[in-house]
Amino acid sequence: MSDKNVDMNAPHEMVLCKICLTEIPATVAKTFDGHAYVHYFCGLDCLGIWQEQLEKAGEGESHTDPL
Ligand SMILES: [Zn+2]
Repeated sequence: MSDKNVDMNAPHEMVLCKICLTEIPATVAKTFDGHAYVHYFCGLDCLGIWQEQLEKAGEGESHTDPL
């Protein structure tokens, strides 16, 4: 993935940070790829919080098969 190939003609799509719900342009948002979806984050801080929550939830084990 290269985030340098930003299409100047693309509309400024706004997304919400998964953690603090800040509205941010999709072009600058940090992303975390889930099994079948993508979460957006305003920065690495919120991304780190999300990853911590995933680990605490203990849902990262390999017993479940991805779709
Ligand atoms: Zn945030």
